[in-house]
Amino acid sequence: MSVRNLDEASGRRQRAGRTGTALLLALLTLATGCAVNPVTGQRELSLLSTANEISIGQSQYGPLQQMGGGQYRVDPGVAEYVAAVGDRVAAVSDRDLPYEFVVVNDGTPNAWALPGGKIGIHRGLLVELENEAELAAVLGHEVVHAAAKHGASQIQREMLFGLAGLGVALAVDDAKHAWAIVGATNLGLHLAGKKFGRDQERISDYHGMKYMHRAGYDTSAAVTLQEKFVALSEGRQSGWLQGLFASHPPSPQRVASNREALAAFPSGGEVGQARYRAHIATLLEDQDVYDLADEAREHIEGNPAHALRLVDQAIGRQPRESLFHGVRGDILASQGRHGDALRSYDAAIERNPDYFAHYLGRGLSHDALGEPRLAQSDLTRSNRLLPTPFASYKLGGYALADGKRAEAKRLFKAASQGSGEVGTAARDAYVRLDIEDEPWRYLQAEPFFEDGQVVVEVSNTSNYRLADIVVRVHVEINGESYYRRLTLQQLASGYYDVLASDIHYRDEDDFTADTVVLKAGPGW
Ligand SMILES: [Zn+2]
Repeated sequence: MSVRNLDEASGRRQRAGRTGTALLLALLTLATGCAVNPVTGQRELSLLSTANEISIGQSQYGPLQQMGGGQYRVDPGVAEYVAAVGDRVAAVSDRDLPYEFVVVNDGTPNAWALPGGKIGIHRGLLVELENEAELAAVLGHEVVHAAAKHGASQIQREMLFGLAGLGVALAVDDAKHAWAIVGATNLGLHLAGKKFGRDQERISDYHGMKYMHRAGYDTSAAVTLQEKFVALSEGRQSGWLQGLFASHPPSPQRVASNREALAAFPSGGEVGQARYRAHIATLLEDQDVYDLADEAREHIEGNPAHALRLVDQAIGRQPRESLFHGVRGDILASQGRHGDALRSYDAAIERNPDYFAHYLGRGLSHDALGEPRLAQSDLTRSNRLLPTPFASYKLGGYALADGKRAEAKRLFKAASQGSGEVGTAARDAYVRLDIEDEPWRYLQAEPFFEDGQVVVEVSNTSNYRLADIVVRVHVEINGESYYRRLTLQQLASGYYDVLASDIHYRDEDDFTADTVVLKAGPGW
């Protein structure tokens, strides 16, 4: 056997940093240069237009809500109330944006603002607030992040940083990677998980109080609220601390400087304690019901019977919460009771038809019951709300069964971003198809002239074992063409083999040769 290991260090393909230059040019044509910040009045670099900011925020708005549990729907009055307080603060802000406020069905105490003015507050933060002035403080702070372009400046910095590190960062991957910074769904997660800078927090605290004051609220609520958060974060376990204003961490220093800043505003103003508690009464009553459901979720694997009892208790107390029915569906599905699970998912979807996980769960149960059309429809719906590796992988399988090869590849590729078993299975499925479609991306074949015979060196440059390899060699000797199809049963990753073509030449002949990889398949 002439099979040999490839020299790993040869580094056959090196990608150049041309992508980065293209991005730089695109940015410069797009650039609006310097602009005055509408909140601080300072001149600063401004590469994103307001329309850019709004469209980036808009594209992340849905996915960010989905990742938190969708919108809170049990008591629509809560969302209306929060939006009304938000509108009141936004109306007096320094920048006209299409502000929007949404209550996310997430138990962790957090709030976020996207570029362009889309703002979310978690159910878990609402129950920690005492009054409407505190709510106005939180929303005012978020409004400033959007108005003062804090999210936009972070994106800008990453774009510039990306350009600075051109050879390193951008050469690693293709153009998609560079544009992913502004384009992909990952951005929402990225922005939400990211802490704003200390300066941006100070600016948001200060101008947030200014907006509160303009809207008629008692500005001291902004400071007492933060004092409370600092105290709470000291007493709680680390998980809670991480959730607590993850993107705007409270600190004693921040409280001290805000207390100083408070002196600039006249005292007094609306507090709205009774009003606040009346409006979020349902949330306050249901607090421990959500704890029951959380506990049920933790027991799904270890003690499903107990999990089911807990979630049934939760449903008994708050039958309108879709998440509880979804958890019930998950418990039943985990026990293989897919028929019963379907009924729970139906109940969940009836209560909130806009949350991906309900469709994902129902789709997987339909899949398990051998109902591909229903499964496909639910998984498609789930993916439209929030693309997940699981749904994409399953949908890829369905597309392939329907003979939609390109669609299947697209879905498997998307799913291969996932971690764990699904990601591995999806990468596998993608490569299986891709090897057959474009075998030359996995193999190299080069002709050599050896002792009067043309031979072909076939190298497996991929990470996969390849099989059923067919290479065509074309040789011209003194103006006459000769063709051979050479085959190879198997070739392991990182190995090469030399195939004899049986085409002979004499040294005095005039000869050339070229090869084409015709075919290869998965060898595993
Ligand atoms: Zn903040």
